[in-house]
Amino acid sequence: MSLPTTHAALATKHGKESIFQPAFAAIGIAVAVAEIDTDQFGTFAGEIERQGSPRDTAERKARAGLDALGLSIGLASEGSFAPHRTTPFLLANTEVVVYVDSDLDYRVFEAVTAVSAVPSAKVVGAVSDIEGLAITKLFPEQRAIVITEDPTTRSRQIFAKAIDTISELEAAVTNALVDQPHPVLVEPDLRAHHCPDRRTVISTAVNRLVQRLQVNCPKCSARGFGPLRTVPGLPCALCGLPTTCASFDVMGCSRCDFESQVARSGNADPTFCDRCNP
Ligand SMILES: [Zn+2]
Ligand SMILES: [Zn+2]
Repeated sequence: MSLPTTHAALATKHGKESIFQPAFAAIGIAVAVAEIDTDQFGTFAGEIERQGSPRDTAERKARAGLDALGLSIGLASEGSFAPHRTTPFLLANTEVVVYVDSDLDYRVFEAVTAVSAVPSAKVVGAVSDIEGLAITKLFPEQRAIVITEDPTTRSRQIFAKAIDTISELEAAVTNALVDQPHPVLVEPDLRAHHCPDRRTVISTAVNRLVQRLQVNCPKCSARGFGPLRTVPGLPCALCGLPTTCASFDVMGCSRCDFESQVARSGNADPTFCDRCNP
């Protein structure tokens, strides 16, 4: 027995089909690439500012993709970087993925946040500073960009992108140093096809989305029924008082307002109890 094939458009120009196609094929969805210029929705290097949240941006890309291919299902992802919530000196990479159904008029989101292993931006004052930059150890899979940034206006000029050899990096840094007075930075190229670390996070988010799409809503039968949030209050194993640990998972539909609660079994570790471990 074979599944009926559904077709979905994926808006990407950075090779994300290698992640989406196998994952969606497993649930009978054939992913076709919509060759739209996703840079119009914002870029990591900063040439084009993003408008709205990463979720909004992902949805706009997905809708542009389905329109371009004349399909009713659209897929897209959007990445962002921010200081880590609990360890601010680390960088967190969040990848949002979305499934848009324009016929049923709803969308299903998933997101994954992970500590980023991508080396941070470094100021270089001379070509000799390139030696010892962590990013060069990750060439050619992880690529680099060379930019200059005006410290007062924060305006950035890009000298080269997709750099994957030390000699290319030296040439770009030499040009940038000669050309003008602002600090020269070597940064990771964060576009998905040049950033293996992001591809791993995107892949985790895509797998979660595929999981969620396999469950249909008990009320309206739309795809994408799954966990929305948790409710705290799991009883302490020692004293039985409610703790901050989750006692219920709230499952919900992405299309209608139907929700159901699933109780978690067991007791909470007393470490999480205000009474036993104040
Ligand atoms: Zn307790
Ligand atoms: Zn529903």
